[in-house]
Amino acid sequence: MSTQAVLTLLGLKASQELKSLLENKHLYQHVTINAGEILKQQIEAENQTNLKIYLGKWATEELPKMRFMLTNQPVKDALTLALPNASLFCRYCQRREAFAPIWSADVGSPIVHGGRQIALPDGFQIFFLVYQCQRCFGRPEGFLVRREVWILGLHGRSPIELAEVPAYVPKVESWLYRDAVIAFNSGKIPAGLFYLRSFIEQFARRVTGLTGRVTGDEIMDAYYKALPAPNKDQMPSFREWYDKLSKVLHSVTQDVGLFETAKAQIEKHFDMRRVFEISEKSPAPEETKPAMAVSAGLRGSHFRRFGVGHAARRRVRNTPVRWLLRKNKQS
Ligand SMILES: [Zn+2]
Repeated sequence: MSTQAVLTLLGLKASQELKSLLENKHLYQHVTINAGEILKQQIEAENQTNLKIYLGKWATEELPKMRFMLTNQPVKDALTLALPNASLFCRYCQRREAFAPIWSADVGSPIVHGGRQIALPDGFQIFFLVYQCQRCFGRPEGFLVRREVWILGLHGRSPIELAEVPAYVPKVESWLYRDAVIAFNSGKIPAGLFYLRSFIEQFARRVTGLTGRVTGDEIMDAYYKALPAPNKDQMPSFREWYDKLSKVLHSVTQDVGLFETAKAQIEKHFDMRRVFEISEKSPAPEETKPAMAVSAGLRGSHFRRFGVGHAARRRVRNTPVRWLLRKNKQS
């Protein structure tokens, strides 16, 4: 019987879509079960005209009234939503792990008002799902899923979604990166842009040691100067992205594309810091260089930077400090 085939196919599709919703979507985003396509195929496959008519009538009159039954396994010939395992970010394991459904409920207990029970609209269901990491069996995660006919929406998470943070994102400012991603994922684009700008600003402040009332441009210039010369021009520029993010923040623009590009470029910058092994501390270049390099520094750039002339440099060259450095170099 084709109605049973439709129900079985709808159940399978719903389970796949629910998996996609839990794994890939964020608050107030949704997935769609393509019921129209399944029905069309089943009606077309039917040979007898009267059955075609019957199926069409059933699909418009009966099917919308049917409720998904939450189950462990798909049930043949019934409208079931078999709860899938899902690959989710585990806050305890700090990576994606396999999660299994352990508890579930479909709001199914009507409240009686003065002896009158209010019916829910056709195709309306709210599911509460509880999932647990199968690696650490830590504290479970809760999801609120809203069904509106063939749409499944993610309408709640308990606790709040924990965004994945790449290993190269600095630990100290990672909360700003995480909040940027959560705000963006929840559709709060200007908040996401603000957190993203604050993320690079706070990192640059820490690395440069600049505090208090300093403009973003000054911080970013100082940060750029502190980057090692051979690498700095290969890396996406924080100054450039700070400027672009500031511009959209002033106009409070819902610029989804800018957030995505800025985030990708900022991540690339941090990944390159990791590849080039750039320290988060930025001591004066002289402090980190070995003895030979120090003497080279004293001979050239150090003096030029402070505007010391040739005569003065020659005088210093014969001081005990210079003599010690030269001795050190020869040994
Ligand atoms: Zn875990």
